Amino acid sequence: MEIRQNLINFLSTLPDNVQLVAVSKTKPIEAIMEAYNSGQRVMGENKVQDLVAKVEVLPTDINWHFIGHMQTNKVKFIAPFVSLIHGVDSLKLLKEINKQAQKNNRVIDCLLQFHIASESTKFGLDLQDAIAIIDNPDFETYNNVRIIGVMGMATYTENEQVIRTEFKQLFEYYQILKKRYFTNNDYFKEISMGMSGDYKIAIEEGSTMIRIGTKIFGDRNY
Ligand SMILES: *Cc1c(COP(=O)(O)O)cnc(C)c1O
Repeated sequence: MEIRQNLINFLSTLPDNVQLVAVSKTKPIEAIMEAYNSGQRVMGENKVQDLVAKVEVLPTDINWHFIGHMQTNKVKFIAPFVSLIHGVDSLKLLKEINKQAQKNNRVIDCLLQFHIASESTKFGLDLQDAIAIIDNPDFETYNNVRIIGVMGMATYTENEQVIRTEFKQLFEYYQILKKRYFTNNDYFKEISMGMSGDYKIAIEEGSTMIRIGTKIFGDRNY
């Protein structure tokens, strides 16, 4: 019952233009079914193996978002069903997603992941890297992928100002890319930022998609 109540509380405060990705990583099938039975259809996982195992037994109308670091050699396992890949950080990865999407007769939506945190461990592109990907002549031949926006993770800190500055940075990257490449593409509209600890700031800074685990499913035991 707790997950249901968490979801109800969460959704009641969420602006209409912000989508909730319920991050179910490490959580059992029963927990995900409780979220599903409460109406939640968008779930996020960060490990390919776990995601594939869950997809096999869960309802087929769940929209699965892959939010982890995507390894090129594992794209093939999720290409048949994944609805959004949040962590695209190289042309090589994009090329592989395109190839696997083509094999499955699909177009796979992706977000470019930016490195906005001060921690060096978090993955992602800087603006020049992103521009280099889009400007690469190969990019426009990838007809089976669609870049629908950007994603980023802020530094894990209590310092709100640091988090806010990083989210502002991501929003600015989004605007620069929108203006330079996607002005006529309505689909380029997503800014995936905000987790349990920082989603309120993320929404204030223009997030359209928040990825929430703990606040819905409770603490994770690794
Ligand atoms: C785990 C994870 C989340 C959710 O984190 P919570 O703090 O539990 O809300 C969001 N985004 C990514 C990329 C994650 O790996």
